[in-house]
Amino acid sequence: MDCLFCKIIAGDIPSTKVYEDELVYAFRDINPQAPTHVLVIPKAHIDSVNGINAENSAVVAHIFEVIPKIAAMENLMDGYRVVSNCGPDAGQTVFHLHFHILGGKELSLEMA
Ligand code: 5GP
Ligand code: ZN
Repeated sequence: MDCLFCKIIAGDIPSTKVYEDELVYAFRDINPQAPTHVLVIPKAHIDSVNGINAENSAVVAHIFEVIPKIAAMENLMDGYRVVSNCGPDAGQTVFHLHFHILGGKELSLEMA
């Protein structure tokens, strides 16, 4: 499949790993919008939030267990934002489900 994030998971495209387990991969965004900007993705391809269903939603629960661990590793004790853009109106550019973790500064009401 011609998916950028599947290629990152496979190691075909380099990335800066922050966390990995059997279900998820987390890495630094190439164009950070905040001092900490990490992307958390399921290893199994899901297009977007619209692709979450009863068969695959367990990985989303797992991602939300992992996010606080990453936030702690990144010293985001003052808080952080979790964002998932779904579809063109939200500005989704990579169609492999991902959750942005943004922090390290006081965030505006823009995405970052
Ligand atoms: P979206 O706009 O779909 O919500 O987020 C896609 C994110 O992926 C963007 O923040 C963009 O900077 C990031 N991104 C795009 N290509 C790459 C890449 O090759 N490597 C990394 N680490 N991040 C990428
Ligand atoms: Zn993919």
